[in-house]
Amino acid sequence: ATGSDARDLVIIGGGVAGYVAAIKAGQEGMKVTCIEKRGTLGGTCLNVGCIPSKSLLNNSHLYHQILHDTKHRGIEVGDVKLNLKQLMKAKETSVEGLTKGIEFLFKKNGVEYLKGTGSFVDQHTVKVALNDGGETVVAGKNILIATGSEVTPFPGLEIDEKTIISSTGAIALQEVPKKLLVIGGGIIGLEMASVWSRLGSEVTVVEYLDQIGGPGMDTEIAKSIQKILKRQGINFKTGTKVLSGEKTGDGVDVQIESAKGGKQETLNADVVLVAIGRRPYTKGLGLENIGLELDERGRVIIDSQYRTKIPHIRCVGDVTFGPMLAHKAEEEAVAAIEYIKTGHGHVNYGCIPAVMYTAPEVAWVGQSEQDLKKAGVKYRVGTFPFSANSRAKTNLDSEGMVKMLADAETDRLLGIHIIGPNAGEMIAEGTLALEYGASSEDIARTCHAHPTLAEAFKEAAMATYSKAIHF
Ligand code: FAD
Ligand code: NAD
Repeated sequence: ATGSDARDLVIIGGGVAGYVAAIKAGQEGMKVTCIEKRGTLGGTCLNVGCIPSKSLLNNSHLYHQILHDTKHRGIEVGDVKLNLKQLMKAKETSVEGLTKGIEFLFKKNGVEYLKGTGSFVDQHTVKVALNDGGETVVAGKNILIATGSEVTPFPGLEIDEKTIISSTGAIALQEVPKKLLVIGGGIIGLEMASVWSRLGSEVTVVEYLDQIGGPGMDTEIAKSIQKILKRQGINFKTGTKVLSGEKTGDGVDVQIESAKGGKQETLNADVVLVAIGRRPYTKGLGLENIGLELDERGRVIIDSQYRTKIPHIRCVGDVTFGPMLAHKAEEEAVAAIEYIKTGHGHVNYGCIPAVMYTAPEVAWVGQSEQDLKKAGVKYRVGTFPFSANSRAKTNLDSEGMVKMLADAETDRLLGIHIIGPNAGEMIAEGTLALEYGASSEDIARTCHAHPTLAEAFKEAAMATYSKAIHF
């Protein structure tokens, strides 16, 4: 039972899921406490994920472009040097500014912030081992689990964040490794492969499946980006499994074999990045004290209103079902608070965009061609290459294409896939189109400004229901 001093909501975890829920709850006039053990807010995303990786992607791209992509534009540059320390400092400045910004938003919205590790004592009580020492206890009428995820380890390759690294080590290396081996060609693998290859590493990506890009990427798009990344100098071994690895005097030896079996091979690298996925994180949370069980993949089991089997304890973000993406966590956080406050909330899981921030970027929303084939849905495809888009050509940045998939009968858009400059921004239009149930003709008949990359989006829609003009 809760006493009169119980908080309306206690949130365990101050990552994107937890902090967004805290701010939203504060805005709704709830008395809310957020417990975070890291020492800073923003979780994986702000501290060691989305934000620092994008800083490195942006600045390594700029460096690479200055080195290799200026002369033919009429720009002559002199001595170009990498200052890795400063590159890392720029990253840290962005992270610091953003995490502090969340603290400010907590104050603004009356959120109580406890720095410490939370664990359940009973169904309404959370004990907090404070980072500064000592312990406190908070009671909540509602409790939200938002403890996120951690790196999935590779058996036998112990992560030391120096020679065998996770993404956390990969955003903080103090020198450019001569040879970098990446296990896992998903989004983390490819983003980090891009960063270090641009800065001078010889990078090899080993991917178990025949296709890179991780779950959800359209096969045609995955093949296309693989070719582009290969041209940029990244080596790929797809359909290949890593069997084992061991540290040698000056690096790591990794044994690989074709996924179908066959001859083994040993690859040597100075640094090995383990990027085979992430798993839900519930360590030390005391779930056993409240009788909450996890599914076979370690996820907290919830219903469509984010309730665990104890209805006033809800859960959102990476620690439960669905894609492990920051914007998905954010949507769920808002919906969970709306459920608590009003009994209604909504997240459209068919309409969550994904973006890989390589150069060019890859972005998609909705279903892939292989999804539609598997489901037996009849569809039409429309594509438009950036090489036929005036702005992309003007910018001398015209790799990639927009690909649309629409229902063969109704023309309703089912999936949109983009490789290209600023694909991550452009996918917002696709997401809106899917959310509103647009047809390809709806987009084709919408005026798009000239000359913009977005015209490629419109022309792909034209190609889906009729014909593109410029291709
Ligand atoms: P988290 O961000 O993991 O936050 C959970 C928080 O809970 C942590 O800070 C943890 O310290 C805290 N915590 C855990 N247990 C306790 C406890 N018992 N008591 C107190 N605190 C606790 N997603 C994107 O959408 N776009 C991207 O570009 C992107 N890039 C990424 C790059 C990398 C390298 C990585 C690793 C991930 C990236 N992601 C990206 C994924 C994104 O970071 C996650 O989906 C997102 O952080 C999930 O938010 P969350 O709040 O559920 O979990
Ligand atoms: P992932 O699931 O996206 O990709 C892991 C890849 O590793 C898969 O392609 C898988 O087939 C491969 N793999 C698994 N075991 C292997 C083995 N033994 N040998 C070779 N390959 C193997 O996971 P990730 O890239 O680690 O990313 C983790 C999470 O973080 C994902 O949910 C991702 O969406 C998220 N994330 C998102 C972004 C973004 O949105 N830009 C960036 C980084 C991370």
